[in-house]
Amino acid sequence: MDLEFTDREKAFRAEARTWLETNVPAKPLPSMDTEEGFAAHREWETKLNEGRWSMVSWPAEYGGRGCNLIEWLIFEEEYSRAGAPGRVNQNGIFLLGPTLMEYGTDEQKARFLPKMASSEEVWAQGWSEPNAGSDMAAIRATARREGDEYVLEGQKTWCSRAAFADWLFAILRTDPESERHHGLTFILVPLDAEGVEVRPIPQLDGETGFAEVFFDNARVPVTNRLGDEGAGWKVAMATAGFERGLMLRSPARYQATAARLAELYKRERDAVGAAGQRDAVVQAWMDSEAYCLNTYRTASRLIDGGTIGAEASLNKIFWSEMDLAMHEAGMALLGTRAELLPEASAAGDVGDWLDGFQFALAGPIYAGTNQIQRNVIAERLLGLPRK
Ligand SMILES: Cc1cc2nc3c(=O)[nH]c(=O)nc-3n(C[C@H](O)[C@H](O)[C@H](O)COP(=O)(O)OP(=O)(O)OC[C@H]3O[C@@H](n4cnc5c(N)ncnc54)[C@H](O)[C@@H]3O)c2cc1C
Repeated sequence: MDLEFTDREKAFRAEARTWLETNVPAKPLPSMDTEEGFAAHREWETKLNEGRWSMVSWPAEYGGRGCNLIEWLIFEEEYSRAGAPGRVNQNGIFLLGPTLMEYGTDEQKARFLPKMASSEEVWAQGWSEPNAGSDMAAIRATARREGDEYVLEGQKTWCSRAAFADWLFAILRTDPESERHHGLTFILVPLDAEGVEVRPIPQLDGETGFAEVFFDNARVPVTNRLGDEGAGWKVAMATAGFERGLMLRSPARYQATAARLAELYKRERDAVGAAGQRDAVVQAWMDSEAYCLNTYRTASRLIDGGTIGAEASLNKIFWSEMDLAMHEAGMALLGTRAELLPEASAAGDVGDWLDGFQFALAGPIYAGTNQIQRNVIAERLLGLPRK
């Protein structure tokens, strides 16, 4: 195995670094869970796309650079190094985009991918329902076929960024007689369509990071269906693979957190109790490096024609638990100061840790809870009985 980067990869890294150093906003953008911050992030994504950096792994015809996964990881490292803004259209570019490449028609790819790359259209994910979270096969929202249209009824919930997004990719029951994962269909829904109501859900911090989406006789053309009618589960599992596997959480962000944690430790180690966090800091650094190496290994395997499958569940558990452990160590190092909100005058850079910790708490829940991932590992990787 050759662990060195090639000359081509080094040149790509240098080009990305130069562009990012010149273009990344000097000041952090407001939270993307606010109207103002959402708009600012959308503007940034447009700029990113103008430089053809929005989705480097996509083909040039859809705004990308045709990079392989190693180059994509290099770009992610440079993006994190530059302190560039979070990706407001992550559900689009990292989840729906690759699914469209696999299941979309040529017309759908041409219609949706370029506007996704530029974030002219920002996407939300509409899978969960009040009684269908972990048990996604319990989905009850329906899409009834009427001629060239589907008529949508029912409710979705916990749709991240849907309060401000333009489109929703939903899984809906098209066969009313069907049960469980049969009879579901993957449908792309414009959020401004008549009969679609978006109700923002304020979070604990007051920001509207989520929304519920209600369908009441909403009509969308049949051409908005991704994959065959009734094949929604199969299409959704491809999306979930991208979500849990490689795309959603690249290693650079965790390496950056581990580096910040090490800096925090150096600064705080003389504080009461801080020395007790030494092992956690070292563990964080080792874990983030291990995650990086394993991701490069997976990327190399995929480039050679391999697949990821149920193994994606191992990945999801690893990054979510690592993120939480790193933030818990940060909070413990800060002691009572960890409770200061970012706007408090004494907070300094401390507010970032609380914010990061709160988000890390959600990691074991979104993209399928870690208990569900453990079920997948038990049954599909270890071959253990279901009961
Ligand atoms: C930050 C965040 C962002 C999200 N964004 C989106 C989004 O954009 N779009 C979207 O559709 N959804 C989104 N979700 C929802 C998320 O997918 C669900 O919360 C998740 O699937 C769990 O479903 P639930 O909340 O209904 O919990 P439940 O399914 O009711 O689970 C409750 C508890 O029971 C456990 N449990 C349930 N079944 C089993 C089982 N068979 N074996 C073992 N344990 C089990 C679970 O692990 C969990 O601990 C988001 C959630 C969060 C936290």
